[in-house]
Amino acid sequence: MGETAEGALPGIDAATTRACLAAPFGVPVELFPDLYLVRVPLPHNPLKALNSYLVLSDDRTTIVDVGFNHPACEEALDRALAALGRTWDGVEIVLTHSHPDHTGNLDRIYRDGMAVLANLHSFQEVENLQDMEAHVFDPLLLKAATPHQSGLCFEKGKPTLHVSAELLPLKNQPAVTFLREGDVHRAGPYAFEVLETPGHDPWHICLYEPSLKALIAGDHVLERITPSIASWFPAYNALEEFLTSLGKVRDLDVARVLPAHGAMFGDLRGRVMQLIEHHEDRLQEIYDLVAEGHDDIVSISSHAKWRYDNWREWPLDQKFFSMGETMAHLIYLVCEGKLKQTICGDEYRFELP
Ligand SMILES: [Zn+2]
Ligand SMILES: [Zn+2]
Repeated sequence: MGETAEGALPGIDAATTRACLAAPFGVPVELFPDLYLVRVPLPHNPLKALNSYLVLSDDRTTIVDVGFNHPACEEALDRALAALGRTWDGVEIVLTHSHPDHTGNLDRIYRDGMAVLANLHSFQEVENLQDMEAHVFDPLLLKAATPHQSGLCFEKGKPTLHVSAELLPLKNQPAVTFLREGDVHRAGPYAFEVLETPGHDPWHICLYEPSLKALIAGDHVLERITPSIASWFPAYNALEEFLTSLGKVRDLDVARVLPAHGAMFGDLRGRVMQLIEHHEDRLQEIYDLVAEGHDDIVSISSHAKWRYDNWREWPLDQKFFSMGETMAHLIYLVCEGKLKQTICGDEYRFELP
């Protein structure tokens, strides 16, 4: 089912959709009985806000995604709980994936005994992957940096990306209850089916509630933003996983997509098809660049088309994201046999077979 003639979602009128986008941070907007959207600010981040979803049970409050490790994020959830007459007692956290805008606040809000549920066994898994990735992207960042580029720092003579405190991995690593494909998580009057949807993040899940025909989509499908897909290892074909995960949600009976950023929307299938098309175009473009003779990540990334020109002058963190994205497409093409990759030391080279 798509949007109605007025552009409203079935069950959620246009006024509610607008109210969600305009709601002050920390003020709950009721979407369905006992299910609320709460906007959590993401300071200094282009995404601006995270949509947390709160579900009220008699003895429990479920919060889906919690924001950065930043006082403003903690404050927003404090306010929301108070407005709903709840306290931190009996709060359980469900995480759609590992990214810091969804998990970082755990370092602030975690209390002893709080249940944390996600599709990961331990936050150590996330840290391990980040450490491994750094071996690939550190040399690339050094190569991509212009002289005096801010954002690069050196530790023991080794270049690393200097990220703000909010982007660092969790300091405290609370125990996690593993959510897997097919699990049904009950909260309030609802039964959320867990769908594993890796791609944007290896640990990504969506939550499908059939009686509401609603999908809590995390960052898997967003209304306007194209979720970033990055990979740094030839062994990890993130784009293929993402496309498979898109196919998995495409035909669900969904009337309302509840995304982690931006507005709710109705036409899930239409949006999925747009995203698939976007990546097909991108694959062709990256292939053409290699065919023209661009053979390394920095050269390919800097010649690809992006929303902003003048790649060489971009901030380093933006170069980092664009190179991860480019790599994900190159790896996909290599796995399909359309490109050949050679690795010499920390140099990755791509050419036609
Ligand atoms: Zn994310
Ligand atoms: Zn996000």
